[in-house]
Amino acid sequence: MRKLLIAANWKMYKTPTESTAFLTSFFPLVKNIETAEIVLCPAMTSLTALVDAARGKSVCVGAQTMHWLNEGAYTGETSPTMLTAIGATHVLIGHSERRQYFNETDTTVNLKLKSALAHGLVPIVCVGEHLNEREQNLTADVLNLQVSVALEGIDAAALAPLVIAYEPVWAIGTGRTATPEIAEDAHKIIRTKIASIAGSDVANATRILYGGSVKPDNARSLCCLDDIDGALVGGASLEPTSFSQIIANAT
Ligand code: PEP
Repeated sequence: MRKLLIAANWKMYKTPTESTAFLTSFFPLVKNIETAEIVLCPAMTSLTALVDAARGKSVCVGAQTMHWLNEGAYTGETSPTMLTAIGATHVLIGHSERRQYFNETDTTVNLKLKSALAHGLVPIVCVGEHLNEREQNLTADVLNLQVSVALEGIDAAALAPLVIAYEPVWAIGTGRTATPEIAEDAHKIIRTKIASIAGSDVANATRILYGGSVKPDNARSLCCLDDIDGALVGGASLEPTSFSQIIANAT
């Protein structure tokens, strides 16, 4: 039985004060919080404030990215030990905006995934095809490659915490959501690939989230499907009202 996971990606929005104000408004609104794992991924500068504000509550806090090394001369980067030291528990890896604007590749995703697992961070690895790839019928090829490089050299036994987010790039921030059929089909491709690499036990235990213009009115039709284990939400997670409605509708 896979526990539903609903994650918020706040991207480059919200100061520390705005982040903790979100929580104050969010808690009275949210229902069924225990039935899902709720993860908020704020900007790096808000992590500490949000971890402190969420302490003892049923909400986890994650980072939007990290370096794979513990320390070094990498100006601007944040290491896994820095994240665990402040109480972050999850980390997004390979978000399409990181791939597009910051040169992340399947190879760096693999390094980051290994590092996150070694440090006890729950990795949420983002994969997904571009529109032109879907139009050329390349979706399965793209997903299979992204998943297989991400998992390369990782022992199946280490993969228990793995979470994958299927985020078709054409659906992110566009208001154009994948239909439940498209999403379910992609999730099956991903689960089958994980099974071929790490075995069916790992594949059946891996949570695969859908991300791409999830809103209160489409959360139920996506999250009720067999292979969809939750959502990674960008724009609609910025407001406590819409994010709490997504949780209510998805659970
Ligand atoms: C995201 O950034 O991961 C995302 C899914 O964004 P949005 O929900 O705004 O499409």
